[in-house]
Amino acid sequence: MSERVESALQSAAFAGSIEGIAPEDSHALSFALARARDFAVAPISNFRVGALAVGASGSCYLGANMEFIGVPLNASLHAEQSALCNARAHGEQAVRLLIVSELPCGHCRQFLQELWDAPNLEIRVGEHAKTLAALMPNPFAQIRTEGQSLLDSPLQKLKFSEAGPGGSEQSLIEAAAMSYTPYSQSPEGVLLETTTGKRFTGNAIESIAFNPSIPPVIAALNQKNLSFSRKETVNRCLHARLGTSLNHSFALTEAIMGGVDGIPVERFLMECTE
Ligand SMILES: [Zn+2]
Repeated sequence: MSERVESALQSAAFAGSIEGIAPEDSHALSFALARARDFAVAPISNFRVGALAVGASGSCYLGANMEFIGVPLNASLHAEQSALCNARAHGEQAVRLLIVSELPCGHCRQFLQELWDAPNLEIRVGEHAKTLAALMPNPFAQIRTEGQSLLDSPLQKLKFSEAGPGGSEQSLIEAAAMSYTPYSQSPEGVLLETTTGKRFTGNAIESIAFNPSIPPVIAALNQKNLSFSRKETVNRCLHARLGTSLNHSFALTEAIMGGVDGIPVERFLMECTE
């Protein structure tokens, strides 16, 4: 089974998920978790964390922490967030098991409250398994209902307010439409294109506590990092936000992409279609 995991990871089609690992196959899951940790990009802390989100569909989504030089530390992505963001990008509807190489920090315990039935999420670290409710009693959160949570909330209905970015138009709008933004109603999307023409998209994901929220540029860089093309250079970055939103992350995208690949950001405004 380890060979099958390694083969999936080495495939040119690898995009962050592995099919066919049974939740009870602890050997394969341990191997995949160790390999997920290898994807960590931690130039500041050198502290590498891996995570696996096991989806209701049977797919297993990798997660790894990412840190960015030249921007505030709170722009970092934690491995648990990375795995859930990856599951959302693949359209996974529910995650009931999260396996992590380290105990989740308080920031992640708060972030995970955005899942449907969050209190009963099983979190495994080594030989130990606990529910999220056991790790975080009395959370600052409202219980998310089925169909309105991080993974299963409906697509948002958006269009460009002005002329869109040519051939990239549809995938940028589709990325923004996947935003989970129940607290600020500020959907955003980012599209990255590499020098070989590979494309990666990201959408905004919010936390009720605001700070653990994930901006779309980090979500897009996460999908690139968890793919066969993770070493490729980005030579184009497009960012769309709702014109009427009170908050957005244009400046963060410019700061991060300026530091990562030194490219300008093409900005676009959107509006809701209903
Ligand atoms: Zn964390």
